[in-house]
Amino acid sequence: MKKDIRLLSLAELQTEIAALGEKAFRAKQVYEWLWKKSCTDFNLMTNLSLPFREKLKLHFEINSIQFDKHQVSNDDTIKYRFTLQDGHKIESVLIPVHKDKRYTVCVSSQVGCSLSCKFCATGQMERMRNLDPGEIYDQVVKVSAHSEELYGHGITNIVYMGMGEPLLNYKNTLQSVRLITSDKGLAMSPRRITISTVGIAKMIHKLCTEDIKVNLALSLHAADDEKRSEIMPINHQNDLASLMVALKEFFEKTNNRISYEYIAFKDFNDSIKDAEKLVKLCSQFPVRVNIIEYNPVENVTYTKSAEDQINKFAQHLTKKGIICTVRRSRGKDIDAACGQLANKG
Ligand code: SF4
Repeated sequence: MKKDIRLLSLAELQTEIAALGEKAFRAKQVYEWLWKKSCTDFNLMTNLSLPFREKLKLHFEINSIQFDKHQVSNDDTIKYRFTLQDGHKIESVLIPVHKDKRYTVCVSSQVGCSLSCKFCATGQMERMRNLDPGEIYDQVVKVSAHSEELYGHGITNIVYMGMGEPLLNYKNTLQSVRLITSDKGLAMSPRRITISTVGIAKMIHKLCTEDIKVNLALSLHAADDEKRSEIMPINHQNDLASLMVALKEFFEKTNNRISYEYIAFKDFNDSIKDAEKLVKLCSQFPVRVNIIEYNPVENVTYTKSAEDQINKFAQHLTKKGIICTVRRSRGKDIDAACGQLANKG
């Protein structure tokens, strides 16, 4: 069986290439084609001799993702569906903010998800498998190329907030970040990368020990354990107290302000009493709160808060000195909520 060449580190590739009777520097050339030039076809690696390319084809394959379909919203948000080598579907989203020249790609880290958050379309799917680092990397490369073509600008920011929980695919998520930030890869600043998690305290502690300094966002969505456990079962094992300890450590290690993502659900978590509870949670270390308008999902009982209620909620936080932004839902006219497009057909 052929090996997926992109699962090899540079050192491993050097060993494999030496075993094929080729000079060691050839491995660096191949590695550059694979990552820096995002090449997915051995035939196109034109500075390698033809016989060497044939050897590579004989022993290796490149399991890249394939573009399947996309939907463009009136607000220029684009939802992509990609097909993996084994036929599974995943999604990515491009969220352009033209005036700020900010082009953010939201990438998936797993096929489906095991965490069953009650408001999420992906949560209605089973977790099939983790994505490998190349499959995450490919989403960035392909969406960036399309953004360049359509909007004249490649992507500037990455958020791991698509299908799946990135910290439950820890090793591959981090390896993809290493490749994206490496000079041998896309050379992006880690400051432009955000890992968004529902909150796995043990893994946040582990992240604190890494040399990579990405931004961290917590999908909070409720400021007390009772409500949070109702919509996010993971809260039973990772309650707010344990998450606060982990996030505080992350802040102290990185000095990076943590973001709280807070989807406002009508008559569930959008009252001033809820805002008060959130204020208390925000007092432990510097945070930024992003209040997000809900993008309704089929078969979900939670609905979006009224605009004026969201504004009142946000004003209350601001009055209490908390940095807070309201994010209007993007891509309302397409299947932009996480998991909606991959779930189709
Ligand atoms: S919100 Fe994230 S963690 Fe929760 S079910 Fe959806 S994809 Fe999984």
